[in-house]
Amino acid sequence: MTKSISCNFTGKDCSWSAESTRNDDEELMSMVREHVLAEHKEVELNPENIENIKSLIKVTKRFWWWG
Ligand SMILES: [Zn+2]
Repeated sequence: MTKSISCNFTGKDCSWSAESTRNDDEELMSMVREHVLAEHKEVELNPENIENIKSLIKVTKRFWWWG
């Protein structure tokens, strides 16, 4: 399984996305934080927004056992 997130939460036309192969929400959120600070300074990373962003994390199942 891979967890990923795209930059849809800002409502901007932004193609940024990130992926964690460790299935690690915290790793993803730290990438999100860096991206938001660099590109979307107007998005406030308060606890409420962070919860909203976390709810947008997608889980992708990979058929890794077929190999
Ligand atoms: Zn973005």
